Amino acid sequence: MTVNVATLGFPRIGLRRELKFALESYWAGKSTLADLDAAASGLRVAHWARQKALGADILPSNDFSLYDHVLDTSALIGAVPARYDWDGETVDAGTYFAMARGTQGHPGGGDAGHAGCGHSHDTTAQEMTKWFDTNYHFMVPELTAGQRFRIASTKIFDEFAEAKALGYTTRPVLLGPVSYLMLAKGKAVEPLALLPDLLDVYAQILARLAKAGADWVQIDEPCLALDLDDAQRTAFERAYARLATRGPKLMLTTYFGGLGDNLDLVATLPVHGLHLDLVRAPDQLEPVLERVQPHVLLSLGVIDGRNIWRANLPDLYWRLKEHAARRDLVIAPSCSLLHVPVDLALETGLDPEIAQWLAFAVQKVEELAALAKALNEGEDASFAAFSASRIAAVARRTSARIHDGQVSARLAALDESAARRAAPFAQRRTAQQQRLGLPAYPTTTIGSFPQTAEVRKARAAHIRGEIDAAAYDRYLRVETRAAVKWQEDIGLDVLVHGEFERNDMVQYFGEQLAGFAFTRAGWVQSYGSRCVRPPILYGDVSRPAPMTVGWWRYAQDQTDRPMKGMLTGPVTILNWSFVRDDQPRAVSCRQIALAIRDEVLDLEAAGAAIIQIDEAALREGLPLRRGEWQHYLDWAVESFRIAASGVRDDTQIHTHMCYSEFNDIIRAIGDMDADVISIETARSQMELLDAFATYAYPNEVGPGVYDIHSPRIPATQEMTDLLTLAGRHVPASQIWVNPDCGLKTRKWDEVRPALEAMVAAAHAMRAVGGRDVR
Ligand code: GLN
Ligand code: ZN
Repeated sequence: MTVNVATLGFPRIGLRRELKFALESYWAGKSTLADLDAAASGLRVAHWARQKALGADILPSNDFSLYDHVLDTSALIGAVPARYDWDGETVDAGTYFAMARGTQGHPGGGDAGHAGCGHSHDTTAQEMTKWFDTNYHFMVPELTAGQRFRIASTKIFDEFAEAKALGYTTRPVLLGPVSYLMLAKGKAVEPLALLPDLLDVYAQILARLAKAGADWVQIDEPCLALDLDDAQRTAFERAYARLATRGPKLMLTTYFGGLGDNLDLVATLPVHGLHLDLVRAPDQLEPVLERVQPHVLLSLGVIDGRNIWRANLPDLYWRLKEHAARRDLVIAPSCSLLHVPVDLALETGLDPEIAQWLAFAVQKVEELAALAKALNEGEDASFAAFSASRIAAVARRTSARIHDGQVSARLAALDESAARRAAPFAQRRTAQQQRLGLPAYPTTTIGSFPQTAEVRKARAAHIRGEIDAAAYDRYLRVETRAAVKWQEDIGLDVLVHGEFERNDMVQYFGEQLAGFAFTRAGWVQSYGSRCVRPPILYGDVSRPAPMTVGWWRYAQDQTDRPMKGMLTGPVTILNWSFVRDDQPRAVSCRQIALAIRDEVLDLEAAGAAIIQIDEAALREGLPLRRGEWQHYLDWAVESFRIAASGVRDDTQIHTHMCYSEFNDIIRAIGDMDADVISIETARSQMELLDAFATYAYPNEVGPGVYDIHSPRIPATQEMTDLLTLAGRHVPASQIWVNPDCGLKTRKWDEVRPALEAMVAAAHAMRAVGGRDVR
C-alpha cells in the first residue's frame, strides 16, 4: 500500500510577492502582457519545481491565477456578463481584468491591508466577496437567464501542457460545477437551473484534459461542507453522475469543514477519490471509512492549510498508520496552501523560539513528505523530522512565552457583570446627552482619513530608518492637527484623529499587545494583487501599556468638540490573525477583550467621552454551518461586551461594522449593546434597514449615507433621501449621519466635498425634523 503526497494548491503570489509587482506594473502600463505572462510562467515553473523537490508526489496545475480562481472558472466557461462587450470567443486579458477591476477608477497597488468592506471599487467590476470563512476574496460569478456556456479560456489546458513539457503530469484543479453555481449570483435566474448546460461544458473540459494526458482532476466542491437543501443535493447527484463516469478520475475535494450530514450524499457519488478536511473535522475519518466504497482513493487533509502551526508528525503517524497499512492513501494539507504564507525561511526577524513552532507552505509540504515516508517505510525513515517535530510540539506546549498566569487568573475572576454596562441604555443615553449636548442627526466619520502617498512614504521611511521616531512623530502630528482643524471648519460634531499613525487596524494593535508576533514576509493573498500579513497570535494576550491614549489626547487637545477614541475590537483582531490552535478561539478572544477593555478604561480616564470599538470582521467569523452560529455569536458578543462594559454611564460606546448583510444576526448586534453603531448601507440603499423593520433596534444607529468605496462625490439630496428613508425604520432621534466606512482609501479631493455635502444633509434634516429629539 502506498501513501502519496498532494498539495491541492500552492500560494500564487510568489516568495517575494513577484505576482503582485508584475500585475501592478502591467496595470500601470509600465510593462507588457508578455512581461506579465513571463513572470507568471516563471512563478508556476518555480512552484512546481519547489513542491517536487520538497517531496510532493501529486502536483496541482491551474491552482495558479492572475487574479482569482473563481474568475478563472468564469473565463473558462465563458460566463462573461454583457457589460464587458465580450466578443464571445476567448476571454482575453483585457476582458479578464475588466471583470476583475472594472475599466476605470480603481486604486492601484499597495498593501493597504484588508479589503475592509469586501467589495470591488468600481461599479463595472464584478462583485467580490469572501471565499467561505477565509480572508481571500473571489469574484462572484454573474449569471443571467438564457446564459450560454462554452470553453472560452485555454488556461487550464495551457498550464497542464506547460507542466507536462517540464516532465510533470499534474493534477489540474477545477472548481466544481455545483460549488461554482452556488457561489454565483443569478439575474432573473436561479443559478442551479443552469446546471445541465454547465455540465455539457464541464464534460468537454474533462474530456480535453484526459486527451492531454491528465489521469486525475482535482475537482473542488467546498460547498459540500455547507448546509445543503434538497435542490443542491440533487445537483450534486446529477453533476457527478454525469461527470465521474468518463474522462479523468475525479478527486472530489472538500475543505473548510466536515461533510457532516452530507456524507450520505457524498458516499453515493461515483467519484474515484475523495479529499477530506481532517483538521477542521478530524472525527469524520471513521464514518467516512465506513461509508465510502473501498475503491475510492481517500485524500486525508491532515496538515492545517489555514493556519501556520507546525504539525505533530509522530501523532499523525500513529493516527494514520493502520489505515495506511490497509489501503492506498493520499495525504495533503486540509485545503489549498493559498491561505498561508510561502516560506518560513524568510522570517529571519522572528524570535527563534516562536519560529520553531511554525510551518508555512514550504514547511507544510516538507511535513507531508516526512509523514508519507514514515508511513511507507516505517517510522525510522523520518527519524530526524519526527524528533524535531516532537521537540517543537513539547517546547510549544510548555513554553513560558505562551502562558501568562495573570491573564488566566484575570479571566477566571471575570464575573458576568464584566460583560454588562452598569445601567440600561435609556439611562446611559440621558447621561450621555447631558455630557455631550449633541444636536439631532449628529455627524461623524468612521475613523480614518486618507492614507495618502505621503503618509505611506513617511511610514516607510521611518521603518527603513531614514527618518527617526521624533521626525515621524512630528509629521504625524501635523497631519492629525490639520485633519482635526478641517473637521471643525466644516462643522462635524464628533471628530476623529484620522488614524495616520496606523498601518493596519489589526496590526497596529497586535504590535502593542503581548502574545502577538509579526512576520516580515508572511504575505497571504487577500484579493487580486493585494496581500495581508496577518499577525500571529501565539500566547496569552495582555496590554503592557496604553496603545492609543497618546494620539487621542493630542487630537483632543486641538479641539473643544468630542474626539472619539478609536479601537479595533477583540473579534476583529481575532478573525484577522492566525490564532492559537491550542485553546478555543473563544478563550483567545476573551483575552483580547480584556486587553481592549484596559485601553477603553484608560481612554475614559484620559477624558474621552466617546470610544469607538470597530468590529469590522464580526460577521465574517460566522461558522459555515448555521447550527454553529449561536455558539459563535454568544462568545463574540460577550467578548465585545467585556471590552466595552467597564465604562461609566456617560461614556458613549460606538461600534462600526462594514457590511450590510447582517439581517440574520441583527439580534446579536443589538445584544452588543453599543450606544451607537455605524454600518454600511449606502450601496444597498438601506436594504439593511429592513432588519430594523422587524426588530426594533434599541440603541442609536448611523446608517452609512454614502459609499466610500467609490470615488464618486454624493449629492446632499441623495443623503437626505437616504436619511428620510432610514427615518421610516428607526426613530429620527436615534439616527447618526456618517459615511459607511473609514476614508483611508480615498483622496482628500474626494473626502472634502463629500463630507461637506454630508454635513449639509444633516443640517437639512435638522431643519425639517430635528425638533423631536435630544
Ligand atoms: N476605524 C477604521 C477606519 O476608519 C474602521 C475600518 C473598517 O471598519 N474596515 O478605517
Ligand atoms: Zn468599515
